[in-house]
Amino acid sequence: MIKKKNRSQKLFEDAKKHIPGGVNSPVRAFKAVGGTPVFFHSAKGAYIYDEDGRRFIDFVLSWGPMILGHGNPIVLDAIRTQLERATTFGAPTALEINLAEYICGLLPGIDMIRMVNSGTEATMSAVRLARGFTGRDKIIKFEGCYHGHSDSLLVKAGSGALTLGIPSSPGVPKCIANQTITLTYNDINQVQQVMEQIGSEVAAIIVEPVVGNMNCVPPIRGFLSALRECCSSTGALLIFDEVMTGFRINPIGAIGEYGIQPDIICLGKVIGGGLPVGAFGGSRKIMEQIAPVGPIYQAGTLAGNPVAMASGLATLKLISEPNFFKPVSTLTTRLVKGIVDRARDAKVPMTSNHVGTMWGIFFSHEREITNYKQVMRCDTKRFAKFFHGMLAEGIYLAPASFEAGFMSSAHSVQDIEFTLDAAERVLNKL
Ligand SMILES: *Cc1c(COP(=O)(O)O)cnc(C)c1O
Repeated sequence: MIKKKNRSQKLFEDAKKHIPGGVNSPVRAFKAVGGTPVFFHSAKGAYIYDEDGRRFIDFVLSWGPMILGHGNPIVLDAIRTQLERATTFGAPTALEINLAEYICGLLPGIDMIRMVNSGTEATMSAVRLARGFTGRDKIIKFEGCYHGHSDSLLVKAGSGALTLGIPSSPGVPKCIANQTITLTYNDINQVQQVMEQIGSEVAAIIVEPVVGNMNCVPPIRGFLSALRECCSSTGALLIFDEVMTGFRINPIGAIGEYGIQPDIICLGKVIGGGLPVGAFGGSRKIMEQIAPVGPIYQAGTLAGNPVAMASGLATLKLISEPNFFKPVSTLTTRLVKGIVDRARDAKVPMTSNHVGTMWGIFFSHEREITNYKQVMRCDTKRFAKFFHGMLAEGIYLAPASFEAGFMSSAHSVQDIEFTLDAAERVLNKL
């Protein structure tokens, strides 16, 4: 054991003086796994380097955005070019049209989008739009899904909220939380029954088509189509929160993967290519309810920021090349199957899920993980040990068992083999 404090440990102490908990987003604090968060300094491709110069293979990828790996030269060029021109006007630019056109061109049924600065803003605005459009107040969400931290949606949420055991937060007024009904993800009967009873009061059902905020949990067959039917028959809107899955599970996200059409889509993460961007979109009829065309207010000083637009557009163009997804998805399968095989050899109960370039492993006896209850029964202590073992081997995983893993096109077969060798050593010591 090294006794001397490393730079991350020193920085964490400094950070806590002026930043609550030393972090600007709770899950970064390593509460779920213990120890000190790693402070990073630079990154290239699949690798990130900490303040002590240690190299890690990155499977967090900034929680999803860096699907091309870090510092992709084409994306960097696009950012650099725009940086020299201007960083922001708070006024329209051609770049915004380019990204909007590009996204609408890729996503069937999405005629218009509005840019915002984060996923939280996208889902918050989508909920307002759904309420304004339908004239109804109630929202249905699913336990373990995380849709950002706005009042209506921070009810039985996933991700950092789950990790800290505060899925519903103080400070959210009861009268707002009461309008949010939380159901069980992948329980088709339940949502059908509830919608039969109160469907006419429901503005929207919001769902992560593949949940990435209680580890990685795909929809069972028929779940998303049942949501679509429930909404269509009651006049509620179906909101796909694709902030994580968009352009990640498939070249066009859940619409492509499952063939189900939402009324409103929320995007973020990948569409900014590493800069802060979110977006929400839908049909012209719905989107034209937004100000200044319609009465539903929504705005943003830095929304459609030109540097972020340039980064997002360059990223989307690269990942929509015909042969982009297959190799990254294949690598994801190889990684996940490889870890599960090694767990079996080490007699560590484990199961896994993966869709496209999103993946998750579960320290669990279950054969298949499809819902929140099963995720909550996973062995988090064992995960914490695994996490720290892998960290010591130079592998950076999400520091909580309720988070999904990601893959980028910058990861090589050698990186995966290196990771699997490390996993074998670590699993054998659990
Ligand atoms: C990350 C995430 C959000 C929130 O996005 P932020 O940019 O962190 O505000 C919302 N929904 C889903 C599904 C996410 O994964």
